[in-house]
Amino acid sequence: MPSRVCVVGALHRDLVVRALRFPQPGETVPGEGFALHVGGKGANQAVAAARLGARVTLIGALGDDEWGATVRAALAAEAIDLSELVSVPRTHTGVGVITVVPGGENTIVVAPGADHALTPDDMERSSGPIADADVLLVQGELRPEATFKAIEIARNSNTFVIFNASPVAPLPDGFLRQVDLLVANQSEAIELLGEGAREVGPAGLCRRLASLGPEKVVLTLGKEGALHFNGQELEHAEAFPVSALDATGAGDAFAAALGVQRAEGVRLKDAVRFACAAGALATTQAGALASLPRREAVESLVKRRGRGART
Ligand code: ADP
Repeated sequence: MPSRVCVVGALHRDLVVRALRFPQPGETVPGEGFALHVGGKGANQAVAAARLGARVTLIGALGDDEWGATVRAALAAEAIDLSELVSVPRTHTGVGVITVVPGGENTIVVAPGADHALTPDDMERSSGPIADADVLLVQGELRPEATFKAIEIARNSNTFVIFNASPVAPLPDGFLRQVDLLVANQSEAIELLGEGAREVGPAGLCRRLASLGPEKVVLTLGKEGALHFNGQELEHAEAFPVSALDATGAGDAFAAALGVQRAEGVRLKDAVRFACAAGALATTQAGALASLPRREAVESLVKRRGRGART
């Protein structure tokens, strides 16, 4: 029986423009290329978890527009239960407008549309799949009160809660105390903790994040791998050496992989190692959904690791 992961999160149409530099306010610069993708951290993490072998239910909202239909069709091509997706009348599907300059730096404007139409009542209506799951995987793109309600339902049903604090948004009181495992990268950790945390280093960030309430913390460090802290021991998991091409999707592959492994009952140390392999593989291909790896590829990278193989 596959493990069950419930993902509650945002679903977007991402418009990606490449440019030689970012425009100044009031300025127009020529674009060097354009691509249209399905994105949003809910969509990305649901697809990643399904490709890694979990039985996935996705809770989210789409607008009643053409892009809503496109996003739904892309998700329907994956083994994901979409029966909890709602279509919001007279509202547009969430949109990410992304500008990328040479070197990979980007700016992103998100118009959440239908994502922000989701309310705590919607979570109550979808409480069955949250309660039935082994793991609930949530991020920072929905309204915090809706995410918080999903977390409360999970807590009341012994569903393990993983919160990927991306992007960082103001959180209701007590939010992080309800989280079993917090996943953040270094800049998200500093946003959560305040500028004073900039000097404390990765180990200090992990400990300070834990003091905000979550039982366990995983701090991702890009090509330096990840740190994990269970409240007592702090351990480092090395990154897998790969020829990285595009980091988009690495964080989502990582969080989903952690969710799948936790749902399978794997201990944190081994789950983080598996997640590092999933994150590394996601950097070897362009785009978000397209780069999310399948189970076999992740397992084979984890096995080859000892032999120093490059991908
Ligand atoms: P985010 O995309 O959220 O900023 P990170 O960049 O920290 O997150 O990436 C998530 C995980 O993916 C890392 O912890 C690491 O295991 C893996 N990863 C990311 N970039 C690389 C890379 N260049 N080489 C190998 N692994 C990577």
